[in-house]
Amino acid sequence: MTSEQRSRNMAAIHSKGTKPEMLVRRWLWSRGFRYRLNSPRLPGKPDLVLRRYRTCIFVNGCFWHGHKVTFDMENSECCKIPKTNREFWVAKIRRNQKRDAEERVRLKEMGWHCITVWECELKPQVRQQTLTALERTLHHIFLQDHSVTYEPMDEGLPMAAENAPSARSDFGFASSKE
Ligand SMILES: [Zn+2]
Repeated sequence: MTSEQRSRNMAAIHSKGTKPEMLVRRWLWSRGFRYRLNSPRLPGKPDLVLRRYRTCIFVNGCFWHGHKVTFDMENSECCKIPKTNREFWVAKIRRNQKRDAEERVRLKEMGWHCITVWECELKPQVRQQTLTALERTLHHIFLQDHSVTYEPMDEGLPMAAENAPSARSDFGFASSKE
């Protein structure tokens, strides 16, 4: 493959609506999840945004986002950096990794949960496991977020019960003692 062909292939992989993303979308839709695509107002334009779950999902290509590429290892089983123009590719992938991390931080500051699904996790032999885990994670997030909302009320009840029966009228916030 010439480097030009390679760039074209990679550009095709990078474009929106690619197969890995479609797999995730189809699965979530069939399981009753509703989402928006490529929300332009959020950092990093997340592939899928689930408002109800306050969650952004990124379906990442292993090459572009440098999956499992660490500082001491500039290659991984799913991100093989081309030998030609190696420095260029390494620098590019590092930049992408850095940008991804920064966008996640900003999203978290805005109160969003972020989930990354990697292309290699959607290979046929592991796909179902990944999608099932994704669904479980979303339910977990939902329960967690909502239990935080209800906790103060639950804690309020035992305290009220400790009051003497005569203090029942103090149950509300307006005190009747004055
Ligand atoms: Zn990967």
